[in-house]
Amino acid sequence: MMGLSEFPVLVSFISIFISIGMLLYSLKYRKAENSYFFILLSLQLFLYIFGYFLELVSDNFYEAFYSVRMQYMGFPFILSNSYLFLRDIFGQKKVTKFQLFILFIFPMISSIGMQTYPYQRLFYEDVQYVSNTIIANAQITPGPLYHIHVVYQYCVTVCILGLLFEAFFGDNSLMKKQSVPLLIGFSLPIFTSVIYVMAETDKVRFDYTPLATLVTIVMLIYSSNSHNLLRVMPIVKDQVIDTMADGFIVFNKKKHYIDANTSAKHIFPELNKVSAGESIPLLEQLLTNKQIVVFVDEIEHIYEVSQIQEITNFKQGGYYIVLHDVTEKEQLLKELHVQATMDYLTDIYNRRAFFDKAEQLLIKNQEDTGNIALLLDIDNFKQINDRYGHPCGDKILQILSYEMRQSMQGFQQAVFGRYGGEEFSFLFTSIDIEQAKVIAEMLRQKISETDFTWVNQKIEVTVSIGISVSNEKEKISLEDLLLQADVALYEAKTKGRNQVCLYKNTQEMHINSSAK
Ligand code: GH3
Ligand code: MG
Ligand code: MG
Repeated sequence: MMGLSEFPVLVSFISIFISIGMLLYSLKYRKAENSYFFILLSLQLFLYIFGYFLELVSDNFYEAFYSVRMQYMGFPFILSNSYLFLRDIFGQKKVTKFQLFILFIFPMISSIGMQTYPYQRLFYEDVQYVSNTIIANAQITPGPLYHIHVVYQYCVTVCILGLLFEAFFGDNSLMKKQSVPLLIGFSLPIFTSVIYVMAETDKVRFDYTPLATLVTIVMLIYSSNSHNLLRVMPIVKDQVIDTMADGFIVFNKKKHYIDANTSAKHIFPELNKVSAGESIPLLEQLLTNKQIVVFVDEIEHIYEVSQIQEITNFKQGGYYIVLHDVTEKEQLLKELHVQATMDYLTDIYNRRAFFDKAEQLLIKNQEDTGNIALLLDIDNFKQINDRYGHPCGDKILQILSYEMRQSMQGFQQAVFGRYGGEEFSFLFTSIDIEQAKVIAEMLRQKISETDFTWVNQKIEVTVSIGISVSNEKEKISLEDLLLQADVALYEAKTKGRNQVCLYKNTQEMHINSSAK
């Protein structure tokens, strides 16, 4: 075993770590554009450099030969991949399948030719182990395939240089800048391999080509990185997406989680624990619900899936979801809705909402036998206002509404609201006239028995109620039904108030009531 203190061995040894560093680096940026070639190149370079180090320090033929095998797992493909990577950097068209085949068939043949030695001797005619006190070599006698391999490597090199010269002499100043370090980088291994080939072949030699290739690939990274072509888009995207308030989640076609921005991870802290490729129930939830309620920093937020987009220029393809915080909007809408439908004083439906809800109820219960309307009006309310003041009247309206709400809780097929001033309207479906009379009487009685006090004074509050019925035979509109109830109410007023009257065609029927 040769010592690490020897210069070539030490240099080789250090190169291994550089290539490992590069491999890790390429894996770190695996999501960046062009990262395919990068990872492949780094891996191939690592195999080449590590294999070469093992060859240098090998103690016998087998060790040397197996190290060459390792080198050949990477080395033949490096140039083809570099070429494709460069084309990508310079924004050239993707190569055709045929071109791809040509680019890789020769490296494949070289690789197989090498690995299957000595079962055939087309690539190597012979391999010998040679060593001096410093380093060892697997010394080869090339076969016909080996010569093809060399010619092919030079051909790809020419293509690469062609690409670089084209960039250098082209109009694009960015490409011009990029091409200089790359020209140096790609010329280097040509020189070293020429020097290596020209050196005396029967002696142990240190081949600088793996080191030169390392420099080449470093240049390649430097070039694509210094001008940020490799990472510029992902970085800009990261910055923009990470600073936006909207949640942003990326997932692949199999609905597996890929990535999320800072906001999304803040909204759903569980995203911090999942890694790319895992399936998460959250996704299904987001895709099926348009809105989702989440507690963020202990405050309720409503998020809306405002966008689901397919991503096509992405390796495996996928989708992204944008989550927009609609809490404020939803609250405003809710408030507006409340303002538009509820009476602010009594907190029951206002006149318009009563009509809307009543119409909806009628449509829902079209098949029902009959509908019943009630109009309830406070007796002598003007007097109460005059005697105790308007605020007292307001208070009475509130208490009364509260009582009515309580009484109406049991009725599913009914709706009531503030018809106007001190008048309240009710619509019942699915009850008959007898039941309606009972309900109206119950309401009247309950109100008359309710204690109203204002500044320690007891106030007597009574109501009059008019009932109208639309039965199966003669269905009438809601408006007409209420008009008829109003007639019945008027009847109740004229007959002394604090009573319930039923409208019956032209003849109003007086229901027995306990007028005080
Ligand atoms: P009747 O028994 O015939 O119904 O007598 P009334 O005094 O109740 O009838 P009228 O329709 O003349 O008076 C209704 C009164 O209700 C007039 C109005 O000042 C009062 N009123 C209407 N809306 C409100 C309100 O929001 N607050 C208060 N305090 N009073 C109201
Ligand atoms: Mg009144
Ligand atoms: Mg009135």
